[in-house]
Amino acid sequence: MVEDVTIRKNMKAVEDIIASECQKAGRKPEDVTLIAVSKTKPVEMLMEAYEYGCRDFGENKVQELLDKYEVMPKDIRWHMIGHLQRNKVKYIVDKVYLIHSVDSLRLAEEISKEAVKKNVCANILVEVNVANEETKFGTTCEEVKQLVQDIAKLPNICVKGLMTIAPFVENAEKNRPIFSKLKKISVDIMDENIDNITMENLSMGMTGDYAVAVSEGATCVRVGTGIFGVRQYMP
Ligand SMILES: *Cc1c(COP(=O)(O)O)cnc(C)c1O
Repeated sequence: MVEDVTIRKNMKAVEDIIASECQKAGRKPEDVTLIAVSKTKPVEMLMEAYEYGCRDFGENKVQELLDKYEVMPKDIRWHMIGHLQRNKVKYIVDKVYLIHSVDSLRLAEEISKEAVKKNVCANILVEVNVANEETKFGTTCEEVKQLVQDIAKLPNICVKGLMTIAPFVENAEKNRPIFSKLKKISVDIMDENIDNITMENLSMGMTGDYAVAVSEGATCVRVGTGIFGVRQYMP
């Protein structure tokens, strides 16, 4: 299949760019996790990425994540990257490796409650709407520290860093200040020495701007189109 070759080739190309940005920034390539964002794509395509060596997959819908979780190999780390409704937390809390999109205390409380029930520890990132776009979820730059402090007091939930979705731009350089601001916020929060949290993860950068994000300190990049090709949404 022509497509199979393309997925491998795409993954290799993305990895090469990550490696070269890491080298320029004096970072180690293994400190950056490439998350293959597989939403809307069929399992066959995910398996191609898996066979290439990918173990980190990102989905933005609970049902789709669960469907793929059922049939895909068990050593995959599933990343919930989309807006999460509180009534769906119970379905994924013991199945995902990391929830990237926690933006309110109410959602964190629900995750904590379900994690206690299932006797797991939920690892999460706090989503920050750095660019202050009205159409996007995420807490504000002003409120994020307080939110992290509040979540840190809840049982069975662990803040592991921050996430942002940068605006869609033609020139990725335009997003550089967004990424450097998220990095700065994470350093500020780290300096607070809050118990039970770390700021080891910075999830930022997508197909259009992951190179810039890596150069500004991303530890997770979320790449969909650049690996699997453009998405087609059913009407
Ligand atoms: C879809 C999505 C991505 C991947 O976007 P591409 O531009 O296709 O790489 C990354 N992050 C989030 C939160 C997404 O919803």
